[in-house]
Amino acid sequence: MKLYNTLSRKIEEFVPLNTPNVSFYACGPTVYDFTHIGHMRTYTNNDVLKRALTYLGYKVNHVMNVTDVGHLSGDDDSGEDKMEKGAKKYGKTVWDVAKFYTDFFFRTTDALNIIRPDITCKATEHIEDMIQLINRLIQNGFAYKTKEALYFDVKKFKKYGKLSGQKLEEKLQAVRDEINVDKEKKHPADFALWFKRVGRFSDHTMHWTSPWGEGFPGWHIECSAMSMKYLGETIDIHSGGIDHVPVHHENEIAQSEGATGKPFVKYWVHNNFLTVDGQKMSKSLGNIYKLDDLEKNKINPISLRLLFLQSHYRQPLNFTWQSARASQEAFNRLKEIVSGLKNSNSSNKKLAKLLNKSIAFQQQFKDAIQNDLQTPQAVAVMWDMIKSDISNEEKYFLLMDFDKIFGLKLIDITEEKIDKNIIILAERRLEARKKRDFDASDRLRIKIEKAGFKIEDKGDTYTIKKL
Ligand code: AMP
Ligand code: ZN
Repeated sequence: MKLYNTLSRKIEEFVPLNTPNVSFYACGPTVYDFTHIGHMRTYTNNDVLKRALTYLGYKVNHVMNVTDVGHLSGDDDSGEDKMEKGAKKYGKTVWDVAKFYTDFFFRTTDALNIIRPDITCKATEHIEDMIQLINRLIQNGFAYKTKEALYFDVKKFKKYGKLSGQKLEEKLQAVRDEINVDKEKKHPADFALWFKRVGRFSDHTMHWTSPWGEGFPGWHIECSAMSMKYLGETIDIHSGGIDHVPVHHENEIAQSEGATGKPFVKYWVHNNFLTVDGQKMSKSLGNIYKLDDLEKNKINPISLRLLFLQSHYRQPLNFTWQSARASQEAFNRLKEIVSGLKNSNSSNKKLAKLLNKSIAFQQQFKDAIQNDLQTPQAVAVMWDMIKSDISNEEKYFLLMDFDKIFGLKLIDITEEKIDKNIIILAERRLEARKKRDFDASDRLRIKIEKAGFKIEDKGDTYTIKKL
């Protein structure tokens, strides 16, 4: 398997630390508002990666966090706490907000047939782990206190910026002159490990006791703490959206490596955005669509999955309702094909073995997936295979095989119920054709059509479809 690694900026051969086990940490949602289909693109791509690794024989341990505290708007810890903002907006408690949007998140991922993580961990349930990690950073000389917070001192971490390739001086220029920025901060890129419940946070609802006073953790520390707790100090894969590269993931590396002195992550995988009119779909821009918008537009969430598969995860994907409808049509066609294959005659539906042509299709599919998850190519292989002249049994087998990664739930597509009498007529017609008695075969075909079905022949096999 070849994977693009943001850290090396190269496509690399994937070699896990402890094969066949793969430790995989995915940054989860901040549960202060509705999950939208932009998020879903990232989580579907994570799911495809996990399924691909499983298909290739790896044993993936997938951990995802849920951010329910400490994520402030703005990259420099200057904004409002997103959870508190959500609570105010909806007139609920922060805990109710977190529960409601976590449930909504999983309702959405389930609708897209995204396999749930092996471990889902909430930030609020891991405060003690974060405190311990911060203590290690203090011992190693990476933290300093101000009246408002405890900060990570980025200048002390020599490799700061290695993921994004951004120099600290460039960061300095990018930082805005925010009124909320703590004046005691040594460097604008320094980030909070712990916020004290003072000043602008003196009314903060969520707070815990710590060696640095009552308060709450900064956002980044949760991922370092939970990743280490469940997967170890060095892990194989860490994923997220590309927006996380310059700040969140850079900070995770600094904290984790500052504490352990070991590499934090072997392969960094970043998903590009779903855009609308060329702009990132995001809560703050107000250009979001969510599960109920799909329902209103009669788009099956699984067909959205097909749409996502048709673009490469490292390319942006511009969403339009037209493209969603086209994908819905393609998905309908696929469902018809699967259902037709289930109805295809051959009494012996069990496949003895794949013949050369089918083996070649399977290999092409695997090659596409192993080449940094070229899913658009893998989907093209599927359509070529469907159009080819391999047997129905082989087609059905390969569709189910490919769907282990695509996740389009093709196995659940039910056969259209076809009356036994129609099957008897179809079998008699096949016998007539074999004997080259075309008059009888035509009479039987007309009878079948009058009953509302059509028959499609291919060699010695046929498929019955509803007219
Ligand atoms: P958040 O809840 O904002 O922390 O986002 C959760 C995940 O979804 C992160 O990995 C983001 O990078 C990702 N994400 C947010 N918006 C989009 C988008 N428009 N397209 C793709 N991924 C996104
Ligand atoms: Zn994270």
